[in-house]
Amino acid sequence: MISFDDKLQPLLGKKTADALETGLGLTTVGDLLRHYPRRYDERGKLTDIRSLEIDEHVTVQAEVRKCTMRKMASRRGQLTEAVITDGTSELHLVFFGKVAFVAEKELLPGTRGLFAGKVGRYKKNLQLVHPAFEILTPESDGSDFLQAFLPVYPASQHINTWNIANCVKQLLEIWDGVPEDPLPSAFREEHGLIGLEEALRAIHRPESWAQISVAQQRLKWDEALAVQLALAQRRKASTARPAPSCARKSGGILDAFDARLPFKLTAGQVEVGEQIASDLEAPVPMNRLLQGEVGSGKTMVALRAMLQTVDAGRQSAMLAPTEVLAAQHARSLQEMLGDLAQAGQLGGADVATRVTLLTGSMNTAQRRQALLDIVTGEAGIVVGTHAIIQDKVEFHSLGLVVVDEQHRFGVEQRDALRARGSAENPHVLVMTATPIPRTVAMTVYGDLEVSALRELPGGRSPIKTSVVPVREKPAWLDRAFARVREEVAAGHQAYFVCPRIGDEEPAKTDDEDKRPALSVIDVANMLVQGPLRGLRVEILHGRMPPEEKDAVMRAFAANQVQVLVATTVIEVGVNVPNATVMAIMDADRFGVSQLHQLRGRVGRGSAPGLCLLVTEMPEMTATMERLRAVESTLDGFELAQLDLELRREGDILGAAQSGRRSTLKMLSLLRDEDIIAEARVAAQAVVDQDPDLQQHPGLAGMVATLLTEERADFLEKA
Ligand code: ADP
Ligand code: MG
Repeated sequence: MISFDDKLQPLLGKKTADALETGLGLTTVGDLLRHYPRRYDERGKLTDIRSLEIDEHVTVQAEVRKCTMRKMASRRGQLTEAVITDGTSELHLVFFGKVAFVAEKELLPGTRGLFAGKVGRYKKNLQLVHPAFEILTPESDGSDFLQAFLPVYPASQHINTWNIANCVKQLLEIWDGVPEDPLPSAFREEHGLIGLEEALRAIHRPESWAQISVAQQRLKWDEALAVQLALAQRRKASTARPAPSCARKSGGILDAFDARLPFKLTAGQVEVGEQIASDLEAPVPMNRLLQGEVGSGKTMVALRAMLQTVDAGRQSAMLAPTEVLAAQHARSLQEMLGDLAQAGQLGGADVATRVTLLTGSMNTAQRRQALLDIVTGEAGIVVGTHAIIQDKVEFHSLGLVVVDEQHRFGVEQRDALRARGSAENPHVLVMTATPIPRTVAMTVYGDLEVSALRELPGGRSPIKTSVVPVREKPAWLDRAFARVREEVAAGHQAYFVCPRIGDEEPAKTDDEDKRPALSVIDVANMLVQGPLRGLRVEILHGRMPPEEKDAVMRAFAANQVQVLVATTVIEVGVNVPNATVMAIMDADRFGVSQLHQLRGRVGRGSAPGLCLLVTEMPEMTATMERLRAVESTLDGFELAQLDLELRREGDILGAAQSGRRSTLKMLSLLRDEDIIAEARVAAQAVVDQDPDLQQHPGLAGMVATLLTEERADFLEKA
């Protein structure tokens, strides 16, 4: 009886097992059986060579067009060059050493074969250097390649796809299946799923497309369900300990604040505000994600929640991703509160509290005072970076934690936060301006309830975005600089955003035609010497010392600096309503969502904002299409969906710091929304009835495996 946990080595031999482990990290039977084919080639159907991407490990089914051997010019020995084709495009192959002779003999024009290697480029041609190959002949009787469907596996330089296919085949021959399907049969029936053994056999050695599809369905369900079960359990666990119930109070600081608000809350702010207010009153911890465009008024919602907490005699902590942002938040909260933030000071209001900043760059005396204010409870609102949580700063009575810009704040940090409270868990409100597609929200942030602010507060002018294609329309760049000068002349300010700092080694690109990206330092120099001469230009980037960054931000906020040239450090949270223009240099080097996020920095005041996407990309390229999409819509949700379609899923999960990268092999966050949604409902139902999954050992096992993998993944990254 072979089980999933058995090692591969005794079954496949040391050499093969080593190759599977080094290249692909596969060590057990389960690892190999769950190493699914990336795609299937129908026998006789040639691979579309145009679809190959540089640097990818590929397996290509193609026909040999020509093959010649010659002496190498600079070294001893022979070199064989071959050209293979799919009938339209060509791919060049090069072989050295002994293989050069074998290749020359076997790769006769007209022969079909499989060729595996890493795609490179030599001059204008795509090529595979020294690929592994296997000839496909009708006579090769009994060979795997007589199968109608050739599974193509993710492979590595240590082992190619047909060797993997061979290993799987050997394994399947001696495998006698799973003793018990982890999904109970009633459950399978309800959701129309085939058994696990059948699915695994079919996924590796299918006989039809229909078989592949039902097998995929089952295996996707396994992944979706394990994730959703884990999340349902996490939701349950996070409410296991009580939270401080923070009742609304009339005549308190929140009422005082509301009474002097210079504007009306938007309908969305009122609705979400009500929701949060009642969450805070409950003795169960709130775990809420608040999404909303930059400038949609999230901070206002958060501040009102913090004031309700203060009214209840508790403290709030607001966490920002960087010290610069923390300092800025503290300042703007103080401004918004005015004398309501001056407790104990002359002129402070009766109901006042205090906003305390705590950062690593404070001196000892400042820090000691801050810690004292926090532990005594004088500080009703504490602002800092995530270090507040990690350093175990002692609070008098922490009631609410607000996390700004959650994409840098993953599941692990949320867990740490919950683990630190004593008998109580604080309420948690996570805010993000990056709209998250529904499937990602369900999969990565599935332990949070989601709210959204979908409108901008009234009187806000929409941002206008224009692509500036400098190759085709060089004059537009001059026009762009002129616009910046006009804005500055009208008393406004401008950002220039660049992909690179410029104090590092020039970035090397594989692509000969691609120059290094424009840098903050070069662009700033260019601006002060030329188009923006006479204006006060400063730079801001992540490698500057914190005090310097802070000084620059302060000067910019005070309009002593008119033009800020920066990296994406300004992406999150920077709020200078007087800034009205942003030029994003080499805009094609940024992702769609990132561009959208960046441009949210302008048009925060009453004057209209302008965002210029400066690029050398020609029209009619995929990259240009992306920029045109950003130009044409302000709907962040639409752009997030587009981003999801464009990026590889691993990147999205990676960016979300989910640690869920290695665990979703089959499930697609883009295409499998239905499965994810259905699995979520099913998982909740199971956990409601059986929180510890005691009656569902199979499901408990799936969750345990998932958590082990996540943990390993997390440790690897840490
Ligand atoms: P976010 O945190 O979502 O980026 P903020 O809460 O910082 O947005 O709000 C952006 C700006 O809009 C701030 O200057 C804030 O004072 C202002 N603001 C917030 N809510 C309203 C409203 N209902 N009406 C008018 N202005 C508002
Ligand atoms: Mg904000």
